[in-house]
Amino acid sequence: MAVNMSVSRRPKQELPDDLSTVEFETSEDVEVIPSFDSLSLREDLLRGIYSYGFEKPSAIQQRAIRPIIKGRDVIAQAQSGTGKTATFAIGILQTIDTQIRETQVLVLSPTRELATQIQKVILALGDYMNVMCHACIGGTNLGEDIRKLDFGQHVVSGTPGRVFDMIRRRNLRTRSIKMLVMDEADEMLNKGFKEQIYDVYRYLPPYTQVCLISATLPHEILEMTSKFMTDPIRILVKRDELTLEGIKQFFVAVEREEWKFDTLCDLYDTLTITQAVIFCNTKRKVDWLTEKMRESNFTVSSMHGDMPQKERDTIMKEFRSGQSRVLITTDVWARGIDVQQVSLVINYDLPNNRELYIHRIGRSGRFGRKGVAINFVKNDDIRILRDIEQYYSTQIDEMPMNVADLI
Ligand code: ADP
Repeated sequence: MAVNMSVSRRPKQELPDDLSTVEFETSEDVEVIPSFDSLSLREDLLRGIYSYGFEKPSAIQQRAIRPIIKGRDVIAQAQSGTGKTATFAIGILQTIDTQIRETQVLVLSPTRELATQIQKVILALGDYMNVMCHACIGGTNLGEDIRKLDFGQHVVSGTPGRVFDMIRRRNLRTRSIKMLVMDEADEMLNKGFKEQIYDVYRYLPPYTQVCLISATLPHEILEMTSKFMTDPIRILVKRDELTLEGIKQFFVAVEREEWKFDTLCDLYDTLTITQAVIFCNTKRKVDWLTEKMRESNFTVSSMHGDMPQKERDTIMKEFRSGQSRVLITTDVWARGIDVQQVSLVINYDLPNNRELYIHRIGRSGRFGRKGVAINFVKNDDIRILRDIEQYYSTQIDEMPMNVADLI
């Protein structure tokens, strides 16, 4: 199947052999499988994996693919950018029967862009399998969704609202679903999404396999998993091992809000060395900052959840292709989005919780690449930053003059 590769193929570059020096806390019966060859995968899937450019499974892939394929409920945590998407994508592709044109796996994620990215990865890895995978997301044409689902899709990757809508209308038939994957699971089980997830879950056949994936899985989330999972295999990372060595973290003491803007302008040349993402805490602030940067003749693009989906798609396309290099955005971009060239993340505002910090800085330093995160801190923010530093046992130093050399 021809695949629109807006998910970029990786340019070959020297990457560390094993990017996770991390120690997992795993269930006792988790095996470590060192190569894709020894995973007993179907031939056409293995071919897809190698043609996509993967040579060796990452640490999480070595541990989690096997239990997913075995049909176990799985809770899989690994640091950002270490290959969690391909972990469940390979698990899914090995599990489905492409002879039956019915939905067998449902993947839920929090944003439309992430659901689409996951669909592209599944299609790319399954390139030789004739797999049908549909992105079922809000902001798109309903009729088109209905037509695609009526035709039959092996895998549906979607956002909860539209997926539930399609289930209720019976265009998405659930009777053959055997696996539910929740990416960014802690976010999906948080207040904002929990009800919607439950709505969908009620329609799934009993004994549906459940896989939860995220870089962050706080205690309160792990505690609730016993309600809908059966004897899950757990592959977890201690929180003091969650930040990546490759992402250097800094702060700039801006003292007052008004001084953030000049600091950002001073950093503009550094931002454009490769590609950069700037996070603000509200959509209004994203609009304001974008406007102000443009008034000062800086080229920036911006994206947030109040923009029409068409516009969001265009912005994503331009940023993925490298046509635009500096993106100002909200937490709609914090989780899961994979653009390998991003090497710098700026927290123009500090995030509202500790989990978001990990996800935001994880937009850089993908799969062993170098990354830099710079936090703008006002006087009263320093306390929050020190709390983050302590919580993850990491180091956030004052930004050095030569920061550009680190990118
Ligand atoms: P995560 O979901 O853990 O944040 P992704 O699954 O998005 O990370 O993977 C990050 C990047 O690493 C992606 O560009 C992906 O294609 C690449 N990648 C994943 N697994 C491998 C592998 N085994 N070999 C080489 N590159 C990989």
